[in-house]
This record gives sequence, structure tokens and C-alpha cells, in this order.
Amino acid sequence: MTVPAEFEGTKTDTLSVALTLEEIGRVSPALAVIISVHCSLFCYSILKFGNSAQKKKYLPRAARGKILGAFSLSEPGAGSDATNLKTKAVKQGDTYILNGTKAWVTTGNDADVFILFARSEVKPGVDRLNAFIIDKSLPGVRISKIEDKMGLHSSVTSDIVLEDCRVPVENRLGQEGKGAPIAFHCLDVSRIGVAAQSVGLAAQALDEAVRYAQQREAFGKTIAEFQAVQFMIADMSTLVEAARLLTYKAANLCDKQESFGKESAMAKLFASEAANKIVYQALQIHGGYGYSKEFFIEQLYRDARVLSIYEGTSEIQRLVISRYLLQDDR
Ligand SMILES: Cc1cc2nc3c(=O)[nH]c(=O)nc-3n(C[C@H](O)[C@H](O)[C@H](O)COP(=O)(O)OP(=O)(O)OC[C@H]3O[C@@H](n4cnc5c(N)ncnc54)[C@H](O)[C@@H]3O)c2cc1C
Repeated sequence: MTVPAEFEGTKTDTLSVALTLEEIGRVSPALAVIISVHCSLFCYSILKFGNSAQKKKYLPRAARGKILGAFSLSEPGAGSDATNLKTKAVKQGDTYILNGTKAWVTTGNDADVFILFARSEVKPGVDRLNAFIIDKSLPGVRISKIEDKMGLHSSVTSDIVLEDCRVPVENRLGQEGKGAPIAFHCLDVSRIGVAAQSVGLAAQALDEAVRYAQQREAFGKTIAEFQAVQFMIADMSTLVEAARLLTYKAANLCDKQESFGKESAMAKLFASEAANKIVYQALQIHGGYGYSKEFFIEQLYRDARVLSIYEGTSEIQRLVISRYLLQDDR
């Protein structure tokens, strides 16, 4: 969806990507994040910042599903503060030698290729981030740990350890020392995907709650006949629509090539927090059965929790939004 026809893809606009992720997010939030990372972080980064050799080498295989891509910025000691990452890429002739540990890589264990960020000395005493395209088959790349997560179980999340991993200079993505702007731009785009994933999950939780409320009886009537339940459903539905509109607005601005970073952060902030409020109420409507794995709402409840954490926590989205309003330098 993010690769053009010249590289064997079926490139569509950002709004269509969002619609797709919303629909997939209804039934499998984990699959939605796998697709979002592959399309909006991996393929998009190479399309936007790669040179023509890199595009020819990776995009056709990525578009055909022959390779799966991942995006590795976070480290055990650097998540929100990502530019403080410690993995080093030391340049020696036409190779960089990478050492360090990356954390929380979505599909890290299953992916064939990573966009991976490391720190390099660009001039004496000055360190900057570089982005690299790294094949998992390279010597010195090892998956060390699979996270035992609360939810999103079919999206495997892992660490990546780099031990004297020699990466050819031609695998650097973008200019020397320009890794941070690459990471931040790509995250601005993919946050629209997380917002869409949140909308899909929230809309499904609402549907589950409505269906259950119309079937479950208490005190001689369906629970849908109690005003307390009706009000929960009204609030949930209003949140879904507001989240959806913010998400589509951010996607539309991105498609029109207008400034969209603030709107993408607003969409991600609002939609992810709305999804969490909605799954809470939807589970409440299910009563005790909502706490049982027999009902889908139990999985949605667990899957929703990460939405306000990954690709920038809600607190980081608030920082991003306020910077647009309070500073002139963006
Ligand atoms: C399931 C999952 C999948 C992930 N996939 C990927 C991936 O594919 N690639 C990748 O690179 N990363 C990935 N991540 C990592 C994710 O992006 C980070 O977890 C996230 O950015 C938060 O970083 P952290 O966990 O280090 O938390 P921390 O940065 O330690 O934050 C802890 C708390 O402090 C708050 N905080 C931190 N700084 C500030 C501040 N300045 N102001 C106010 N509050 C602040 C945070 O909001 C949070 O509440 C994934 C994480 C999860 C859980």
C-alpha cells in the first residue's frame, strides 16, 4: 500500500491505508500493527529516504511479501528519549561496525530486514544518529529475547543484539547523521496508522457491547433497556466518531502534503486514549463474562492497552502537540 507500481507495489493514499488498518484492527489489532510497521515504517522509510539502489533491492520484495520489514529505534534505556540511544555505529572505511542492544522491535523475530538506528561520530566529538537497512542474516545480528506481552500476542516483539555487525556504507539510509529527522518524520506518518488501528479496535468493542447489551437480560429486561447502559453506549459511539474524524483529517493533510505532524499526534493521542476508555466500558457492559476469555472483549481490552504507549506515549504526543503551538521552530 505504500510502494508504487514501479517497485511492484499498489501504492494508495494515506487515507486508504488508514481505512485498511481500521478494518483489520477490528478483528486483529496485532495483524494491524504488523502491517502498519511493514508498510508505514519500513517500506515508507525506504521510499522516502532511500537511494535508487536501496529502493530496487528492497521495495519489490517487500511489496510482494517476500520479505517482512521492522523498525528498530527503541533501546532498553531509551524509548521516549530515543535520541539518547546507545548503540554505536563506528565507520571504518566503507563499513560501519555496529554494537549495542535494541529493544521492543515489532516482528523483530520474524522480520527479514530492519530499519535500525545507531549513533555515529560525524565529526570529532559530535555524535548523531544514523539510520541503516540491516538484513537479519548479517553476521553479528542476534535476537536475544522475545517479550512475554500482555496482549497483541500474534505480533511477536523482540530485542536485537548487534555484536561487531559489519554493515556496508551503502546500507546507510539517508545522509550521514540525519537518522533522527528520518525517525521522527516516519513516526509522524505511522502514528496515523496507530490512530486508525485504535479506531478499528474501539469500533469493534462498541459493536460487541451493543450486541451483548441487546441479548443479556437482567431484572426481566435486556440490559440495553437500562439508561445507564444506553449512556455508556452513547459516549462510546461519540468517542469512536471523534477519533475517526481526527484520524481521517491527519491522513488527509498528509495526502495533501500539508503540515500534519500536530494532527497526527492529536489523532494518535485521542484515538488511543478513546480506545482504552471504550474497551473499559464495553467490558463493563459484558459484566463477569467480559472478564472471561470466552468473549472477544477480553482480548480487545488487553490489546488496547499498548496503543497509548508505542510509537510515542500519550505524554510524548502532548509534548509534540504543545511544541507546535508554543515554538516557532517546527
Ligand atoms: C508492544 C510494543 C511494540 C513496540 N514496537 C516497537 C518497534 O517496533 N520499534 C521501536 O523502536 N519501538 C517499539 N516499541 C517501543 C515503544 O515505542 C516505547 O515503549 C515507547 O516509546 C515508550 O518508551 P519506554 O517504554 O522506554 O518508556 P519511557 O520512555 O521509559 O517512559 C516511561 C513513562 O515516562 C513518561 N515520560 C518519559 N519522558 C517523558 C517526558 N519528557 N514528559 C512526560 N512524561 C515522560 C512516559 O510517557 C511513560 O509514561 C514497542 C513497545 C511495545 C510495548
